[in-house]
Amino acid sequence: MQNTVTPTHCPYCALQCGMNLTPAPDGTVEVSERTDFPVNRGALCGKGRTAPAVLSSRVRLTSPLVRSEAGALVPASWDEALDRIADGLRRTRAEHGADAVGVFGGGGLTNEKAYGLGKFARVVLGTSQIDYNGRFCMSSAAAAGTRAFGLDRGLPFPLEDVPRTGCVILVGSNPAETMPPSLRYFTELKENGGTLIVVDPRRTRTAEQADLHLAPRPGTDLALALGLLHLIVAEGRTDEAYIRERTVGWEETRAAAMAHWPEYVERITGVSVPELREAVRLFCEPEAAMVLTARGPEQQSKGTDTVGAWINLCLATGRAGRPLSGYGCLTGQGNGQGGREHGQKADQLPGYRKLTDPAARAHVAGVWGVDPDTLPGPGRSAYELLDALGTDIRSLLLMGSNPVVSAPRAAHVEERIRALDFLAVCDVVLSETAALADVVLPVTQWAEETGTTTNLEGRVLLRRRAVAPPEGVRSDLEVLHALAARLGGERGLEKGFPTDPEEVFEELRRASAGGPADYSGITYRRLAEENGVFWPCPAPADAPPATGGSGGSEDAVLDVLPDDPARAEDPRPGSGPRPGVHPGTPRLFLDRFATEDGRARFAPVSHRAIAEEPDDEYPVLLTTGRVVAQYQSGAQTRRVDELNAAAPGPFVELHPRLAERLGAAEGDPVAVVSRRGRAVAPARITTAIRPDTVFMPFHWAGEGRANTLTNPALDPTSRMPEFKACAVRVEAVGGM
Ligand code: SF4
Repeated sequence: MQNTVTPTHCPYCALQCGMNLTPAPDGTVEVSERTDFPVNRGALCGKGRTAPAVLSSRVRLTSPLVRSEAGALVPASWDEALDRIADGLRRTRAEHGADAVGVFGGGGLTNEKAYGLGKFARVVLGTSQIDYNGRFCMSSAAAAGTRAFGLDRGLPFPLEDVPRTGCVILVGSNPAETMPPSLRYFTELKENGGTLIVVDPRRTRTAEQADLHLAPRPGTDLALALGLLHLIVAEGRTDEAYIRERTVGWEETRAAAMAHWPEYVERITGVSVPELREAVRLFCEPEAAMVLTARGPEQQSKGTDTVGAWINLCLATGRAGRPLSGYGCLTGQGNGQGGREHGQKADQLPGYRKLTDPAARAHVAGVWGVDPDTLPGPGRSAYELLDALGTDIRSLLLMGSNPVVSAPRAAHVEERIRALDFLAVCDVVLSETAALADVVLPVTQWAEETGTTTNLEGRVLLRRRAVAPPEGVRSDLEVLHALAARLGGERGLEKGFPTDPEEVFEELRRASAGGPADYSGITYRRLAEENGVFWPCPAPADAPPATGGSGGSEDAVLDVLPDDPARAEDPRPGSGPRPGVHPGTPRLFLDRFATEDGRARFAPVSHRAIAEEPDDEYPVLLTTGRVVAQYQSGAQTRRVDELNAAAPGPFVELHPRLAERLGAAEGDPVAVVSRRGRAVAPARITTAIRPDTVFMPFHWAGEGRANTLTNPALDPTSRMPEFKACAVRVEAVGGM
């Protein structure tokens, strides 16, 4: 493998940028530009460029660790560590029942691992208690998309469509920091004469590039969308023919919007009526327009309805399911999309099937070779699962997540984790959560193993192994195989966990066949030859798709877009699909939506306050987010020197007026206190934030841990916690 250039993808965010990796003689791995992948066309952010540093990090785990009688984590053999995990999980099951064993996955796991983990939990452990950190990422958008369109795929169109639309409203998204190479799509949009509206309480680097920046109070974007819809109706800008032919539920939604007068919305949101009118003009005048949401509107206790309100704008103006138009979610985690499709989510089976659907249970159970009646039902959502640790759930197997840093009300979650009878963690470094485990298994990383991910566009990709893993490290699939051998034999299920990713993917194809996220027509060979395939992609025998996709009519779509660069350049580089195979489905909903009658559903929603409004004791709003040089809980990126130099620690962003009231100067330590705890970090004073709001990035542990403060109030539909808005007070503190 020496000096071989391997085309692959970044381990971090949902853009899944293409990159080339070359092992160097000194044992390091060089990253170089890979221009054949259309999403990033060679561009990488600092995280992607430095990702190989984690492969050779001096803090990389290369031996299993077990908790000694003295309480320390000490090296152990793989057999001893695996035996301990099997014993711990078996004992819990015997003493407290199968549902006392929990499993927690991650949105960074490959499709094969997510599939294997869901199968392992339901088949070998027989527990319903599995969920993953993607619940904290995009679950409100997934719920709203499913409710409106009958199907959730982050973007129902390729990113290539963005520069060619007329207007984009970017709601609660900051791609300049979260996925910088994607910013070119918005720059090109403006170069092509389109306009960009950014909705964000902060004037972010993305908002600075907007034609119009709307800065609502955190947690009021639902009201903002209602105010815009009110004006759209009042100004006669609705598309009545589209509403009649392609939607259901308009009258109730219209009535709800008309109750939200612009002046009322201005009072709630702080966005002025002229700004609302300008947004409506920019959005409605072009023939095509899009609304793209990210964590801002989604991570709320009313996230599903908030996203639904933004989808309503697309439906009322005839945008969804039309060329170069519609609603999309910019999913965050590397495999946030695929991770929610293949069975590690509490309520889902592979292929994005519902766990409660008898036909889905029968199909997947058939592939797994088990009786459908033995499959458990839906379990707790991520926060509810973490909240039950040490009480209803006594043991936990955790893969690819670091909830001690990333979960809301993190001090409480940490306390619950400490209360477990048994914790096993698979990770590449000793994360804050792994440090609490009874057993830690060192696992392979992205560049050391082959597997598939599905990016934010629904494009399934092949990540290739570029280097051998260090001695002492095994893949998560090998872990599942070894644990199934120890635990599954009791039910004759020890053989269903192959270690070869392609073998797992072949099974995943069969399990997903006929489901909403149908991968049955996708093979590793196709992924390699075509540089990614959009789902749904049924196997020839199953075509055409029945998911509301435009798979069968892609040619018609491209005819609608005669100058489509996706056609001119071929969105599927390489040799392209062979005759007789389904080409994949870059664009969804152009013919019909994926509902039973093919029509989209309006959501008749009304404004609701956030779960915890400011008061005399906690008079300020806290919102949280990311910085460009760190990723999620920072477990990997905080181990990269270059990234640490760029973003060495947390900070509290606050307005000069608030800083003056506190008597705090730039860099002074300030404490942010909520009903759940206290965090301290240096002040960063800027007019880019509203005077009633402070911002903290959430990548760090310790006293600057932002999630110590956040509110776990859950959205009733998506079970998404309200990361984006809670009440706090801010205090100046003496020297740090
Ligand atoms: Fe990796 Fe995302 Fe950066 Fe691309 S934008 S290099 S996928 S972290």
